[in-house]
Amino acid sequence: MPAANDMRPAPTAGSTNLLALDAASAERFALGLGWPRYRTTQILRWLYQQRGRDLDQMTNLSKAERADLAAVAHVGRSQDSRILRSEDGTRKFLIRLDDGLAVESVLIPEGRRLTLCLSTQVGCTLDCDFCLTGKMGLKRNLKAHEIVDQVLTVLDRLDRDEHLTSLVLMGMGEPLANLDAVSDAIARLTNEDWGLGIPGRRITLSTAGLASRLPDVAALGVNLAISLNAATNAQRDRLMPAVNRLHPLDALLAACRAYPLPPRRRLTFEYVLLAGVNDADQDAKRLAKLLRGLRCKVNLIPFNEFPGSPYRRPDDATVLRFQAHLKQAGVDTFVRKSKGRDVLGACGQLGGERGQAPVVLTPVGVGC
Ligand code: SF4
Repeated sequence: MPAANDMRPAPTAGSTNLLALDAASAERFALGLGWPRYRTTQILRWLYQQRGRDLDQMTNLSKAERADLAAVAHVGRSQDSRILRSEDGTRKFLIRLDDGLAVESVLIPEGRRLTLCLSTQVGCTLDCDFCLTGKMGLKRNLKAHEIVDQVLTVLDRLDRDEHLTSLVLMGMGEPLANLDAVSDAIARLTNEDWGLGIPGRRITLSTAGLASRLPDVAALGVNLAISLNAATNAQRDRLMPAVNRLHPLDALLAACRAYPLPPRRRLTFEYVLLAGVNDADQDAKRLAKLLRGLRCKVNLIPFNEFPGSPYRRPDDATVLRFQAHLKQAGVDTFVRKSKGRDVLGACGQLGGERGQAPVVLTPVGVGC
C-alpha cells in the first residue's frame, strides 16, 4: 500500500511529473526516451492501477530503465492528506496541493454504496448565494491529475473491505468551467486498459447550469445532474445570479430537452430546499411543470445551514409535502439525506474548514 503522507524528497528542477501527462503526452514522452510504444501503457498502468508513487518500485521496467526514467521524471502525487471523520461514517479528505492550496473530497457511505464526491476547482467561479464554496471565490482550476489524485488518495486510504461504487463531480467548483481538465480526468478514470476502469454510468457530473456546455458532457459518457434550485428566473437570479444571467431557466431547460440521453438513463435535477424561499407548494407545482416531459428524477436537498448564511433548513413536513407534490405530478423525487454535516462535508459546505487543528464543527450547509 503506498504511503498516504509521502515524505520523498522534492523532484529536481525540470523533472517531468508523469501524472501531469495525458495519455498522448505520456506516449510522446516515452517515445522521446527512445522506448517502444508499449512502455507507455506499462507506465500508465503503474500510475493508475498500481497507484505507484516511487519509480524505484516500478518493477514492470528493468532496473536500468527505472534509473533512466527517475533521472528525468517523477510521480507528482499529493504529499499530504488529512481525514475528518463524521459521526455518520462520512469522511472528508483535505488534500494539500503543490502550491499550498487545499482541495476537499468527501467519501459518503450509504448502505452498500460508497460514493466519492470530487472537487474540480479550488473555490468556485460562480457565486451561488446559499453555497459556502461560492463564498471563497475562485482560487484556481484544478488540473486533470489533481482531480484524479483525489481518487487515488482516497483509494489508498480505504479499508480492506471497502470498494468505491460511484463518483460524483459535485464537490468544490463548477466542473463545466474547467472542462478540459475534467474531460482528461474522466478519460483516466474510465479507461479500462490502463486507467482506473470506472464505468461512465457510475460517474455523475453536476453543473450549476452552463447550458451551452451540456453537449460536451454527453460526449464524456457520464451521467448529468443539473443543480436547479429554483422554478422561476426571479428565484434563480437571487440564488444563482452568475449562472442564471448567462443561462436563464428557459435556455437551460431547452438545453436539457435537447440533451442526447442514452437509453435507460435519465437526467438528475438537484433542488436545494431553503425555508421560506423556494419550498412553497407553488414552487413544487411550478417545478413539476418545468420538468414535464423530461426523462428525469429530482433530488431534494434540505439546506445544510452554515454560520453567516441567511438561509434556513425547512422542517421535515415541508420537505415531504414538496416531495409529494412532485410525485403526484409523476416526477420521481428523492430526499437526499445530509451526511457529514459535522465535518462540513455535506453538500454546499465544502471550503468551510481552514484551520490545521482538529475541528469542532457545528452542523452546517449546499452545493452543486
Ligand atoms: S453551488 Fe456549485 S456552482 Fe454554485 S457556488 Fe457552490 S460549488 Fe459553485
